[in-house]
Amino acid sequence: MSDRYAVIGNPVAHSRSPAIHALFAAQTGQDIVYGRLLAPTGGFVAAVERFRDEGGAGLNVTLPFKVDAYRYCARCAPRAQAAGAVNTISFLAGEALGENTDGAGLVRDIEHRVGLALRGARVLLLGAGGAARGVVAPLLDAGIAALAIVNRSEARAVELAAAAGDPRVSGAGYPSLGEADSSPATGARFDLIVNATSSALAHAAPPVPAPVLRGAALAYEMMYGASDTPFMRAARDASVGRVVDGLGMLVEQAAESFSLWRGVRPQTDPVYERIRRELAGA
Ligand code: NDP
Repeated sequence: MSDRYAVIGNPVAHSRSPAIHALFAAQTGQDIVYGRLLAPTGGFVAAVERFRDEGGAGLNVTLPFKVDAYRYCARCAPRAQAAGAVNTISFLAGEALGENTDGAGLVRDIEHRVGLALRGARVLLLGAGGAARGVVAPLLDAGIAALAIVNRSEARAVELAAAAGDPRVSGAGYPSLGEADSSPATGARFDLIVNATSSALAHAAPPVPAPVLRGAALAYEMMYGASDTPFMRAARDASVGRVVDGLGMLVEQAAESFSLWRGVRPQTDPVYERIRRELAGA
């Protein structure tokens, strides 16, 4: 019988992870099935345990359950420990092992697909939820010069920055970036701005003043889809050098999870190109 995997989240119907893992499996000759698991709010643990009891081998975890998954796992790998969030669960002898591949996926996409060197870069990270938590340590490990974490709930940004325990990291609320028409209050300029918020679900862009956007070489939106999100539109309006969505990160983090589960690393470029064409309706 094929080994069973799934992505668990809420909502989850939009997820491209099943298509990506099916392409990886076909490419590497692995015998797996990969589905979607919709868990109700407050129903994460029950849904995970039912899946495990029915013989499931592993799960990807998406919004809003990454921190629940961290609390649930019996043991966590260092990257998941550092993040306090889990996006990949492996069931080994009934025990749940947690890993976080989001950060590796983001770094790989930025450095290899987009072609921006992270070493020495000044980075603004918008958001302090599960996705943001997963990328802090990998960005620091990539040698960035500074990381400003800005979040709607300022306390979460401050807490996440403090948890990093690194002098390059600071946490604040949006007012620290200044007013829409003025220079940034901090005087800071960023090479890379990453939107790790779910603001696009509310058809909104995080309130980053245009002067802050304008100086960036790359605006990276973690959401992905057929069309630009409000953040991407704002970045284009501000003439940011390069504007990309999170499809590359999605494919790269999936490849990390697949390697972990199956012990074989798939090629990501053909899968990225195929899913991009599908998103565009081609
Ligand atoms: P969480 O629910 O854990 O966190 C959401 C974050 O977004 C919080 O920081 C929240 O702020 C902020 N936020 C929500 N709405 C708004 C808004 N209208 N304006 C400003 N800030 C807002 O979600 P995740 O961290 O798991 O996911 C965030 C995004 O990243 C999602 O869109 C997800 O799809 C995407 N993602 C993409 C991946 C990829 O591989 N491409 C991987 C992981 C995530 P507050 O704390 O104030 O509530």
